[in-house]
Amino acid sequence: MTWQQRIDTALDARRATDTLRSRTVVDGGAGRFLTRDQRRFCNFSSNDYLGLSQHPAIIRAWQQGADVYGVGSGGSGHVSGYTRAHHALEAELADWLGYPRALLFISGFAANQALIAALMDKDDRIVADRLSHASLLEAASLSPAQLRRFAHNDVSQLSALLAKPCAGQQLVITEGVFSMDGDSAPLDELGAAARQHHAWTLVDDAHGIGVLGAEGRGSTAALDARPDLLVVTFGKGFGVSGAAVLCSASVADYLLQCARHLIYSTSMPPAQAVALRAALKVIRSDDGAQRRHTLADRVHRFREVVTRLPYQMTPSQSAIQPLIVGDNRQAMQLAGHLRERGIWTTAIRPPTVPAGTARLRLTLTAAHEPDDIDALLEALHAAGQ
Ligand code: PMP
Repeated sequence: MTWQQRIDTALDARRATDTLRSRTVVDGGAGRFLTRDQRRFCNFSSNDYLGLSQHPAIIRAWQQGADVYGVGSGGSGHVSGYTRAHHALEAELADWLGYPRALLFISGFAANQALIAALMDKDDRIVADRLSHASLLEAASLSPAQLRRFAHNDVSQLSALLAKPCAGQQLVITEGVFSMDGDSAPLDELGAAARQHHAWTLVDDAHGIGVLGAEGRGSTAALDARPDLLVVTFGKGFGVSGAAVLCSASVADYLLQCARHLIYSTSMPPAQAVALRAALKVIRSDDGAQRRHTLADRVHRFREVVTRLPYQMTPSQSAIQPLIVGDNRQAMQLAGHLRERGIWTTAIRPPTVPAGTARLRLTLTAAHEPDDIDALLEALHAAGQ
């Protein structure tokens, strides 16, 4: 096959299975409303769970950070791109989450890739929840370690896999709140199983951080023992972007030697670190607590009614409320029906989710008013007829 034939074949295969991905140009997509072609939609697709992307104090912090530092960091943190703003944010994150150290990354995807690439060796084994994010599973399959997946949240299968002989070290990988199902991992049980086999645990809490737990500390806040490695991301509850790895002092020092996404990549703009400090302050404040309370209220309002409609939901209690449709085309049609009624949702299809489980990944946020939830429920009711 020539290059062109290879590209065309791949695209044709996507078209034939209704899995061709595309993007839509919008005028701002993170707030309560999203505008496209001068038409306003209520936005049920963003991960801005607390509505912080539009928070005046955080916007102002970013602007003030740019006044002080300019718009770019000027280099990798190993060269000249590690400012007082980066350093202060790392210290505050470590203190907030109860770890000796935090290291900033430009994205959660980069953090997961860097961490797994830096840690895993040939004789090692990764045991990952089957529904772990693409950034984790891709890094795991590219690493020289053996990769074994356990059925979603199945602690006994995890234990059975960990019990098999392994010449090297074992790493258990899971998420706090699962990105496409919205349910939570049984972190205490998973951690206990890992410790029994002297394995380390990596928890990616992209969807729990800021949103769950006291002071928004996330899915791991109240655990018996904290995970060895915690990844938090800032594109969701924090309303910004970027990520951090929380770990011991020696692991942080090790990552500074071996995490290539840190060493060979421009660090996040210092102004962004200033904005993230402001977002963290909001998350820890009464304002943050109020936003978490509002979000919980919207989730309750939605689930109370949606569970009586003829749709298959997951057991999620989080802001992520997926509506499982199954067929790819039907999922897109349902998204189209809702769009006609002014509701913005996106159909998520394989390979992002397992074949036969195409879904609308509805996300609720603290920026939604009760009327927005009612309008969504009415639109779902009408589409279901
Ligand atoms: N981990 C999980 C569980 C995610 O859902 C995502 C983003 N969808 C990422 C990591 C990647 O984070 P980022 O968007 O910061 O690259």
